[in-house]
Amino acid sequence: MADTPSRAGSPAALDTDLIVIGGGPAGCSAARMAASVGMHSTLIEPDSLCRNLYRIPALNNVLGGYSSGPELADSIATELKSTELCRLEIGRRATELRADDDQVTVTLDTGARLTAPYAIVATGVGPLQPRDAPWIAAPSDLPLPPLWKADAYDAEGRTLLVLGGDRPIGTFLRAHPSTPTCLVVVYPESDDYKVEEIRDDPRVTLRPVEHVTLHLADDAATAEIVDRSGKRLTVAADAAFLSIGNAPTAPSGDIVRGTDGYSPPAAQHPRVIVAGDLRSARFQRIMTALGSGSEAALHAYYAAKELLDSDR
Ligand SMILES: Cc1cc2nc3c(=O)[nH]c(=O)nc-3n(C[C@H](O)[C@H](O)[C@H](O)COP(=O)(O)OP(=O)(O)OC[C@H]3O[C@@H](n4cnc5c(N)ncnc54)[C@H](O)[C@@H]3O)c2cc1C
Repeated sequence: MADTPSRAGSPAALDTDLIVIGGGPAGCSAARMAASVGMHSTLIEPDSLCRNLYRIPALNNVLGGYSSGPELADSIATELKSTELCRLEIGRRATELRADDDQVTVTLDTGARLTAPYAIVATGVGPLQPRDAPWIAAPSDLPLPPLWKADAYDAEGRTLLVLGGDRPIGTFLRAHPSTPTCLVVVYPESDDYKVEEIRDDPRVTLRPVEHVTLHLADDAATAEIVDRSGKRLTVAADAAFLSIGNAPTAPSGDIVRGTDGYSPPAAQHPRVIVAGDLRSARFQRIMTALGSGSEAALHAYYAAKELLDSDR
């Protein structure tokens, strides 16, 4: 592939100094940090930069005065587009990553190949479906929307059944602070710690469950619940939404995955650096993604200069 202006410090035969796979907060901050230390990068993103931030209507944990995801996403995208040393491959997906002794090779969905000394993989996570959750029984063709897709109209004066206690519930409540609604949140034991942030909202009813069987009609949702003591009860709602979390999404090839599907940075090939949500189910926040992406770029920089300690 053609390259942008001349690069210092990398073998001339390679396309760039650093390939960044994924254009979320982690990938964008990696490319930005790489540029700040003089590294050329190519960032691959199938959608738009920071696409997931456009789903976050209200922010309360990001420094810099940003109060919404779209505001932050626009700002990051503008900055990346003006970063001279970063070439953007928007509308392209990485399908495979191979790591050898002296280079990485990334294959794109067009069939084109890109080479570099290092790759940062920051592909984040994608939404789970009811079939992925053993505690939910639901028709297999069930088109259940995630809660972040619900708007004030869906919620106003209605009872919503929410399957799972994942964090988007807090985001939804903050985005609609004065909307009168009732969220009945049914969640498994593994989500116990996640519901703490919504426990005090009077619009929320928490129902810890062992198992739930879901039935849907045109204008109603019914859940048959088995609670943690084995007691059965039925909950009726106007609609049902999902908040059961996400699963890691990484291209195929030489990316090590743990038993939970995540890709711990310390387990990777020395030329593959993992950043952002893909690292682990914990620490999935915008600021940790920004930090880990920046750190990943510096890791590649020091490794290229052979200034890295042996333990990562
Ligand atoms: C509804 C919702 C609300 C949230 N609210 C908050 C909040 O209030 N505060 C907070 O701190 N965090 C919040 N988060 C979490 C936050 O959005 C994530 O932690 C953050 O976006 C992670 O950044 P990332 O770059 O690791 O991954 P992502 O943002 O997921 O970016 C990964 C990128 O990789 C791209 N990609 C995927 N596969 C490939 C491939 N094969 N090739 C190339 N590119 C690929 C994707 O298109 C995507 O753009 C929320 C998340 C959701 C879903």
